[in-house]
Amino acid sequence: MIKKALSLYMALALCMAAGCASAPEKAERVGFALDTPVLITIYGQSDSEAQPALDACFAMIESYEKMWSRTRPSSEISRLNAAGRAPVDIATAELIREAVRISKASDGAFDITIGGVSALWDFNKKRVPNGNEIEKELASVDFRNIMDEGDYIALLNGARLDMGAIAKGAIADALVSALPGLSVESAVINLGGNVYAHGKRPDGKPFSIGIRSPWDDNAMLGTIELSDLSIVTSGASERGIEANGRYYHHILDPKTGWPAETGVASVSVISESSTKADALSTALFILGPEKGMELAEKEGVEAIFALKSGEILQTPGVAALNFKTA
Ligand code: ADP
Ligand code: MG
Repeated sequence: MIKKALSLYMALALCMAAGCASAPEKAERVGFALDTPVLITIYGQSDSEAQPALDACFAMIESYEKMWSRTRPSSEISRLNAAGRAPVDIATAELIREAVRISKASDGAFDITIGGVSALWDFNKKRVPNGNEIEKELASVDFRNIMDEGDYIALLNGARLDMGAIAKGAIADALVSALPGLSVESAVINLGGNVYAHGKRPDGKPFSIGIRSPWDDNAMLGTIELSDLSIVTSGASERGIEANGRYYHHILDPKTGWPAETGVASVSVISESSTKADALSTALFILGPEKGMELAEKEGVEAIFALKSGEILQTPGVAALNFKTA
């Protein structure tokens, strides 16, 4: 776990180095939140000038984590899961609505009612559930079990929510919306690889963002140039367990409850909405390259698939963002 966290920090540092070798002024802060390293870099401001905005960003992350964490028993999501019906914050209701929309669009490949099944897995303590446990919980996995009553959300048939595949994107979007009010014109927000490039570098160029290699923790798949865009990568190597002579990763197929195996090593999605990029990166991983490409096009996002075979596939718009493999 520590080794993994360290290599994540290294990868975050790599991303930033690629972006800003020549930046005149910047301030950055690293933290650990959302079960992952977080790095926020503000450009065009001195270290002391940027402190209030950095404080505000980290406070916002904490307040969203308090609402959406599935591991904190006091979170709004945990309370909803326990009660089966509960009032929710407007931001939570909106996020659930967007999640249900993407569930429908992806034909259930992305499904936040995976909560009962995902709770059986513990990637930190290396717990792999058995087939019976999965079978039992799988009965509750279906986004149609979510009843949207406006201020209230009800969960039918024992469904339990897990916002893990969409929350980081939504939090990145919330931070980006707050940045102008914090007098920040140029920043890169990196929530454990869920990246938002806000504005441009101080020299007027887009940010060059590194994409982690799915094959080597300390290497990059490539770089891409982004301004006012988010890139989110879902990869089999991000979190997993070696047991029973095989490797189990954390992106689960809602139809089986087991890690999705579709020939994809990682998939990156680029969109102005980090919420969409986050949810769709998970959906595209599960759908695989063919159906995944179709959905990317329908949703108006760009995507880069790194296949287990070593092949790299990309949507047409990726070339204009100067994607270069490492
Ligand atoms: P990461 O959390 O590494 O950024 P993802 O965005 O792909 O990766 O989200 C994976 C997390 O989302 C899992 O840890 C689990 O909590 C949850 N999850 C797993 N499979 C699905 C799925 N099919 N639909 C929705 N959420 C999922
Ligand atoms: Mg995701």
